[in-house]
Amino acid sequence: MMKSNLEELAIFGGRPAFSEKIHVGRPNIGNRDRLLERINDLLDRKWLSNNGPYVQEFERQVSERLGVKHCIAMCSGTVALEIAIRATGLTGEVIVPSFTFIATAHALQWQEITPVFCDVDPQTHTLNPWRLEAMITPRTSGIIGVHLWGQPCEVETLTEIAQKHNLKLMFDASHAFGCSYKGTMIGNFGEAEVFSFHATKFLNTFEGGAVVTNNDELATKVRLMKNFGFAGYDNVIYVGTNGKMNEISAAMGLTGLETINEFVANNHRNYKQYQRELAGLPGVHLFAYNENEQCNYQYIVLEIDEAITKVSRNDLIKILWAENILARRYFYPGCHRMEPYRSYFPHAGLLLPETEKLTKRVLILPTGAAIGADELSKICQILRLVVTKGREISENLLTHSTDKAFQGSKK
Ligand SMILES: *Cc1c(COP(=O)(O)O)cnc(C)c1O
Repeated sequence: MMKSNLEELAIFGGRPAFSEKIHVGRPNIGNRDRLLERINDLLDRKWLSNNGPYVQEFERQVSERLGVKHCIAMCSGTVALEIAIRATGLTGEVIVPSFTFIATAHALQWQEITPVFCDVDPQTHTLNPWRLEAMITPRTSGIIGVHLWGQPCEVETLTEIAQKHNLKLMFDASHAFGCSYKGTMIGNFGEAEVFSFHATKFLNTFEGGAVVTNNDELATKVRLMKNFGFAGYDNVIYVGTNGKMNEISAAMGLTGLETINEFVANNHRNYKQYQRELAGLPGVHLFAYNENEQCNYQYIVLEIDEAITKVSRNDLIKILWAENILARRYFYPGCHRMEPYRSYFPHAGLLLPETEKLTKRVLILPTGAAIGADELSKICQILRLVVTKGREISENLLTHSTDKAFQGSKK
């Protein structure tokens, strides 16, 4: 049923558009039988961790797919970041965006390196290279760019700046598995790039991550560090931690790789449908991917311009949640407004005008295999209804108590 009146909206007492909750970041799950087969095999083999055959095969397939020399699989993207940061020798201050998942900053702070937040470009949502140079100090040792939404950073410009100032350049590529920059797969840039294979990411291993690099020496160091510094039985030659990926995770990753083209096709089909059905909706801008590059289309990112829609991004989220469409506001309120950074740098926001604007405007919609064309149309119809009657809705919301409909947004 199509909603056409405000009273039909769930937030004003109507029936929710969906009887079940529709989530952002529902896992992309490959062929179940293939996964179970692999799990049976690994149980028969009784080799559950410590560089097992599935981990080795997963690393081989990832390297081959990306055309990168080394892939070191890990237990999470965060641990992979921490290890890559340490192995690269970053110290002092490292420049990162604030418009990212908190782990980018935490991976530095965890080892007492100070994340210095740099603003992003309003078009690409990635580090603004021209802002970046002004953030360099004598303590700066490196830059970590984030390929947010799978949109590559301005890799060439960042590489030039890093060379000019003798800084190490790394990338948090958590969102960018299967994406390319000027025809080269993400994974080949900077000293190293880091992927996350968390359940919500494009390719998942339940939990997991990887460091990929073309630098032999760095790869050896990372490999030692993720396994307590063991160079062989009874032979520890380095300080290390436990960053190992286990065999079940690798089995999931291998299974996902078999159907990765389907994951892209689902996401791309949804992206094109959102693009068609939201076209021309005033004040609602869909983040545009470069379709000439390889792209995983894992995130449907809207920017809501409240001055035009007359309904705020936050109210829009409340309205969608009431309909059981669990849209999210990634990465609100920005790392610089979370602890401990908020206390360390209370005025960081003054240098982050685009970040502050984006964190107030961005809204992520559900996609993936779980969303069919009819469901997607229903989501777009509701958005259209709400935005065309924005002023009226905002006035009505003031007189309604809506707290029950919205329970906040958690990961
Ligand atoms: C998911 C994510 C991480 C952390 O990865 P985990 O595998 O969850 O530890 C880091 N950075 C970004 C940008 C992410 O989205």
